[in-house]
Amino acid sequence: MARTVVNGISVSTGIAIGKAYFLNRSMSSRLPRQTVPSHMVEGEKQRIKKGFSEAVVELEAVRAKVPEELREHQLIIDSHLMMLKDPKLQKSSLKYVDDHCINAEWALEKAVNDLEKAFGALEDKYIRERMQDVRQVALRVQAKLIGGEESLRPVQGRVILMAHDLSPADTIELEVNKLMAFVTTLGGKTSHTGILARTLNIPALVGAETLENSVVDGDLVIIDGLSGKVLVDPSDDELEHYYTLQNQFEDYQRTTIRTCNLPAETEDGYRVQVYANIELFEEVAAVIDNGGEGIGLFRTEYAYLNRMDLPTEEELAEKYSELAAIMAPRKVTLRTLDLGSDKFMTHFGPLDEANPAMGLRAMRFCLKHQDLFKTQLRAILRASVHGNVSIMFPMICGLKEVLQAKSALARAQQELRDEGVPFDEQMPVGVMIELPAAVMIAEILAQEVDFFSIGTNDLIQYSLGIDRTNPHVSYLYQPLHPAVVRSIKYVVDAGHRAGIGVSLCGEVASDPYCLPILMGMQIDSLSLTPQAIPGIKRLLRQLKMPECKQLLKEVLGCRTVSRINRLVTDNIYKKYPEELMFFASLLDNEDIAG
Ligand code: PEP
Ligand code: MG
Repeated sequence: MARTVVNGISVSTGIAIGKAYFLNRSMSSRLPRQTVPSHMVEGEKQRIKKGFSEAVVELEAVRAKVPEELREHQLIIDSHLMMLKDPKLQKSSLKYVDDHCINAEWALEKAVNDLEKAFGALEDKYIRERMQDVRQVALRVQAKLIGGEESLRPVQGRVILMAHDLSPADTIELEVNKLMAFVTTLGGKTSHTGILARTLNIPALVGAETLENSVVDGDLVIIDGLSGKVLVDPSDDELEHYYTLQNQFEDYQRTTIRTCNLPAETEDGYRVQVYANIELFEEVAAVIDNGGEGIGLFRTEYAYLNRMDLPTEEELAEKYSELAAIMAPRKVTLRTLDLGSDKFMTHFGPLDEANPAMGLRAMRFCLKHQDLFKTQLRAILRASVHGNVSIMFPMICGLKEVLQAKSALARAQQELRDEGVPFDEQMPVGVMIELPAAVMIAEILAQEVDFFSIGTNDLIQYSLGIDRTNPHVSYLYQPLHPAVVRSIKYVVDAGHRAGIGVSLCGEVASDPYCLPILMGMQIDSLSLTPQAIPGIKRLLRQLKMPECKQLLKEVLGCRTVSRINRLVTDNIYKKYPEELMFFASLLDNEDIAG
């Protein structure tokens, strides 16, 4: 038996067996990154100097304790001491504070990043590896600055990453090729950490509340991303069982991927489009490899995170055009910035909001920052010359916002026309339906746009009043709550009555238990994480429309979510047990198991 079992919420399926690596519990994502007013610049510089000298004193004390037989360690410490005393790293950190008015921790981080880039470009492997030492030295200083006990270390070998929390900004800085899985204490079913894990195709658990008390660095752990468990220090029998399960899972993935390019149609020929959701340009290969028929949601805000400055129109236009060109003739839907909530731009910093999810987010933010919005609109329009680009506005709550967004788009179009810059005059314009208000006025909104895309991650959050990142209420995150099912149906029907297409791009689209119901509604397209496409397509190809419609009818007659979950799981589990074994579902685990 394992020493301990930690329960979490599975947000990405699969099995991983390996050593735990804790991203520093006290620093890591808590590393403060702030701009400071000019009168504080001198103070920040003093902190850097103090941090360095304290780290020297600490390291000298450590060196004095190293026994003679461990002379090699002494040499390493000596080299670290030399680096700490060398003025270069300190000087470039101080310069960052001066030039950019940023806090000490951030300035040091940036100075180290610069060095890392320079080292990374060198041919000599030995010299490149010395970068590890520089990072360790810098982390010792960071620990002094923050006042924490532990220091950040670089990831060694492949590990299972454990963290208190990972923000979207943190996750894009991770050394992703070294991660076998990740587990966080915080987070809910559709927090962005899960989205990243599925993109990387590694198992992940969030909301593992007892994690930090139960696991220490270097523990052997099994991550069961099928049932949402971490087995700490497993027995030989458990290891054997999980190695077998891991092989079965990999077999399933291999066979599924073989059929991923077959059309997404039910057994009786009802055809839908299956698109992919991506955040980073680098994921395009995964979209194509997994049989995605296009990109149904490109979360453009990720390109704005982790940088001081704002991307220029030129830079954005180039990236979007490259994306459109690679995907053509497949469709590419660019969602305009969804900043705010849990995604902050360094340039603006977090806003002082008690409830950021209900704050100045997404469309609201863009309409307040028209210049920023216009830069993006012009870049999107320029990429539209490829003829396969659509634009989509997030978090719409009323008609006025749609009209304002469309006016901004029309102004950008006129500018480009005047400048003689070509773009697609017919580029489709859509809105995300992710607020209950937008559901209720779907008929009105449908008159103004070419398509709808239902964002169930937020729609569930706002309909049921549950913070999607809060593990304490994740048990209430119910995609098949009668209110949610009815909302989705209402939007699909309203869209169809107005003659526009309706897509669904929340995580519900990759949940096998929800699929027959969506098909029963005659949804036009689904957009999901690339790695889930093969499995969803495979299941879809076995469904029959009359059965889906019948199931939907019964579901609409149910009064409680547990009744719906039971109905759906019974129905689909009986028919396709082997299809479901390796899916992480959004549904309540108990309902599925029962
Ligand atoms: C959604 O809310 O369902 C959605 C797809 O958008 P995001 O997850 O980026 O908020
Ligand atoms: Mg959303």
